[in-house]
Amino acid sequence: MKPDSDPEDLQPPAYEALIQFLYQAPIGLLQIRPDGTVTMMNPRSAQLLMPLARQGNLDNLFEVLDEVAPDLRAMADAAIEPGALVCEGLRMPVTPTTGSRRVLGISLLRLDAHTIMGCVNDVTHEVELEQQRLASRMRDASRTDSLTLMPNRSAVLERIQQALARPDASGAPTFAVLFINCDRFNRVNLTLGQAGGDRLLRMVAERLNGTVRQRDAVGPAREPLHTTARLGGDEFVVLLDGLRGSEDVHSIAQRLIDTLSRPYLIDGVEVHISASIGVVAGNHAAAEANAVLQDASLAMQEAKRAGGGRHVLFTPSIKDIATRRGALEVELRRALEQSELFVVYQPIVELADGRVAGFEALVRWQHPQRGLVSPVEFIEIAEECGLIGAVGEFVLDSACRQLAAWQRRFGAQAPGMVSVNLSRAQLQDAVITDQVARVLESSGLPAQALQLEVTESMAAQGDDIRARLLELKALGIALALDDFGTGYSSLACLGQLPIDTVKIDRSFVSDAESNLHKRVLIEATVRVARSLGMSTTAEGIETEGQAALLATLDCNKGQGYLWSRPLAAPAATQWLAERIGAADPMPAETHPSAAAPLRAASGFRA
Ligand code: C2E
Ligand code: MG
Ligand code: MG
Repeated sequence: MKPDSDPEDLQPPAYEALIQFLYQAPIGLLQIRPDGTVTMMNPRSAQLLMPLARQGNLDNLFEVLDEVAPDLRAMADAAIEPGALVCEGLRMPVTPTTGSRRVLGISLLRLDAHTIMGCVNDVTHEVELEQQRLASRMRDASRTDSLTLMPNRSAVLERIQQALARPDASGAPTFAVLFINCDRFNRVNLTLGQAGGDRLLRMVAERLNGTVRQRDAVGPAREPLHTTARLGGDEFVVLLDGLRGSEDVHSIAQRLIDTLSRPYLIDGVEVHISASIGVVAGNHAAAEANAVLQDASLAMQEAKRAGGGRHVLFTPSIKDIATRRGALEVELRRALEQSELFVVYQPIVELADGRVAGFEALVRWQHPQRGLVSPVEFIEIAEECGLIGAVGEFVLDSACRQLAAWQRRFGAQAPGMVSVNLSRAQLQDAVITDQVARVLESSGLPAQALQLEVTESMAAQGDDIRARLLELKALGIALALDDFGTGYSSLACLGQLPIDTVKIDRSFVSDAESNLHKRVLIEATVRVARSLGMSTTAEGIETEGQAALLATLDCNKGQGYLWSRPLAAPAATQWLAERIGAADPMPAETHPSAAAPLRAASGFRA
């Protein structure tokens, strides 16, 4: 339409057609003067604008739209150049007296000094579509992990729930959930900073996506529907759906571990991590997606506990253990407050003459309902929940005070040393040196009367642990390497550790008499230790035969049920008194070790 052409110029059929067009156009067309006076308006315009008109008066557009577009008049005044846009697609809500709320869109264009033309249309549907699109974009964003652009926790939970609701013909669900946690990720974050850590996580995500063939939810129904997702931090989830056999899960889990363990190059630095995976297979799955993820996470923690870089299949017993752990943690806090912990003492004797060289202090927990709880059960929990510092200090303090008391009571005949176990977490904490110094001071025990036991695997760890061991040694205390033979370090590494005594593990001692290989290993350990100026103690000696053999092999000291089980302080004191009273040391040559062991005194036995 050319609005400024004179209708008289048009041929009658064309004019007719134009009128028809104006009348029937499904869009509102109108023409106004700059003050808003309507000079032309087609029926669609009138129909659309009528709900806004007061008393049905459509004479002035600005007055009609005064409430919904109050600035329109000013906008028209500002657009004075011919061809200037007054507004384009300006949206106006309309609430008719009947029917639902609509939205009108209006565009106005200045034609010349006297004329503004415009069009009005109903954009309700368009606005609704836009809102839907926006809502779905927001929904996607709330279901997407912004760092990796993978589905996030809520998205994967939804898919797990869908998988749970889709059992196979036999009724068994055909999916597996793999809960992945990167091992040693914290160290990467510390060395490369957060930006480096983020890059690593994106690379992990890419490798996961590349390893697990993915099918979108809209894919053919019989194709497997695999999903990779990030839960947050260094935790990822892979949902394998449409599986056939359980071998699939194991080989995929292993493939993921292999892929994630390959080195990463970040800012020219080669970074190594591995992954621990907890697997929930359909047949062990809980009924609810959140519970499935929790179970998979428990299995993942088991994989970590076992050293990481592996996958563990969830079984109900894993959950039982976790529940028991949780309960123990709460109870252990109470145990510390209510003095349910106590220390037992096991003698360590000189194999050559049976003299009592010292005692090893071992912690016990007298639980009001469960009875006596083994340290094997609760030391690890204490480490995990940050209670090990308090437990460790309690044992150290009790042991030092006890030896000081024995030294006061038995004088020169008192044992010269007490040995206290340190756990990994204690050794990782820089406060340990101060703690030991403080306890020595408050108990009045000379530093050389205290021995601290660390295990091979702890001692063999990084430079910071080594530095800590040297700090401790600088206090004047002795260090023993506990459970030697069960860990990773070999005889060749012994010389690199700042230790004074090697404690040969019970597993070597128990069958040394019948197993030549073990005997040879003990002999070699004794020889190497001696050449390095270290002494040796054999753990777990239960028979006189074992004691005699170890003495023949030149091992210095022995510890085990043969002499005594670990005893609570009063029983240990009594044991010591009897031992000292009965001391009638035979000449060493005629003494085949501590050949006349005094049986454990009556009293508490642990
Ligand atoms: P460990 O330091 O190697 O302690 C020796 C363990 O062997 C003790 O077990 C002791 O009761 C047991 N044992 C001693 N002689 C014999 C024997 O002749 N035959 C047999 N079968 N066993 C014997 P316990 O007291 O259950 O302690 C187990 C482990 O728990 C200890 O191994 C030590 O690693 C840890 N532990 C104990 N007390 C503490 C503690 O206060 N702090 C820390 N961090 N760990 C502790
Ligand atoms: Mg020990
Ligand atoms: Mg040991």
